[in-house]
Amino acid sequence: MDVSDLLDYIGPAIGVLVTVVFVVVIVFKQFKPRLSGGTWDAAVQQIAQQFGLRHTPIESFYDQASGNIGKYDVDVSVDVDSEGMGVAYRMKIEIDTSIGWSFLMKVRGTKADWEGDAGQPMPVGDPELDQTIEIRGAPPQLYQVLQSDAQLRALIKQVVGGWGAYLSRDDLVLFVKAIPGTADEIRAYLEPMLELARWLSEPNAPRTGAAVGTAAAGMLGRYDHAPDQEKLPLLHSFMEQLGSTLGPGQAYINTNDEEVDWRGTVNNFPVRIKLDSWPNVEIELKLQHGHGEVDLEFDASKVPEPGAPPPWDESDTVRVFFGKGVFIEGAGVQVDGMLQHVSAMPERVIAQVAEAMARDEVRNFRIDSQRLWVRMGPELTEMLDPEGQVGRTAQVMGWLAQSLQGAPPDPAALQAAQNPQSAAAMMMMKTSCRYCSTMFIAYPDPNCPNCGAPAQAS
Ligand SMILES: [Zn+2]
Repeated sequence: MDVSDLLDYIGPAIGVLVTVVFVVVIVFKQFKPRLSGGTWDAAVQQIAQQFGLRHTPIESFYDQASGNIGKYDVDVSVDVDSEGMGVAYRMKIEIDTSIGWSFLMKVRGTKADWEGDAGQPMPVGDPELDQTIEIRGAPPQLYQVLQSDAQLRALIKQVVGGWGAYLSRDDLVLFVKAIPGTADEIRAYLEPMLELARWLSEPNAPRTGAAVGTAAAGMLGRYDHAPDQEKLPLLHSFMEQLGSTLGPGQAYINTNDEEVDWRGTVNNFPVRIKLDSWPNVEIELKLQHGHGEVDLEFDASKVPEPGAPPPWDESDTVRVFFGKGVFIEGAGVQVDGMLQHVSAMPERVIAQVAEAMARDEVRNFRIDSQRLWVRMGPELTEMLDPEGQVGRTAQVMGWLAQSLQGAPPDPAALQAAQNPQSAAAMMMMKTSCRYCSTMFIAYPDPNCPNCGAPAQAS
């Protein structure tokens, strides 16, 4: 055996080795950050950096930043599928105020179990505040401060009355039913809460910064406690403000149906945003020509637990994921039909729609031959960033309409789906995740959309 023979053996072996190392590094890089959460993971991490807290991504659906801000013990956690205080919550901010006064502050009438507490409702001299906030057992000097301090009353009204936080003896706690997409959204809650903790524990300390949040958020904060005749006008003002950021259009009140509509155009497509009195949000966009029906749903509770056994297939129902918690489901034939329509769309559009759905809590996103139709998950007043979530969703619909418009359903692509060599055929190959048993399409992104593990053939 001479040297060139030896190279014939070693050459390919080195090639394979380099490829294996390369693949392992890529897989590891993609796998690790995805396991520790979605966009909120980065948001919580940024908050931790900004405020000097410890960041703990505990598992795929739980993130925590905790530590001290000034003299306060602060804990920010994001948990997309959990129960707290009897309600499913998405974000919790807890500040250990250590005020040392024995009193509690709450929205009147919502927590029956607090009714037994001794004390008198707080006489704050503000009829609007009196209606919604109750403070019992506070020291006399706090009542005096509250009487004279309109800024503090406004802050209490925003944090406790508007958002539903509560202050109970030593802790100021807020549960928010929305996934924060950015650190700014978390800060918009955290900073006023810190400010409130400071103002209550150090009533005579100098005030810093304007703590009261955006006009739009404040407007919706009043909604639940507003008299009935003020509710639709509140929604109307909100919709006018939101619509002005989207494009030409107008907001209408429909008194008979107790609805508020915004009708206008986004990317030149006719769009209607509808709020009912809950207020639930639906958005419709009219297409000139559409596609076959694809019905996407976002439900974080349908994400399989890593390591759990694969679902016992009792029914014919198949669920295929396109993003974390975002899927299509139905009988096998229905799902295959939807996958065919997806494969005839421009590459990656569904992945982008899925990402937007999880970020902005879009419960349903339907594409059909006439229109795009969306239903948001939380009610408008429960969203962390109502203007942003609804506005971005309408823009994603306008963008998708334009993408579909530029690429009408292509019979050749459907034909190509029969050809095993084609991209369209790869698109339709369902794969099961070895780690969490999620079923997904490993093209063009080969990793599990729920847990980030690399694909394997099913
Ligand atoms: Zn997985």
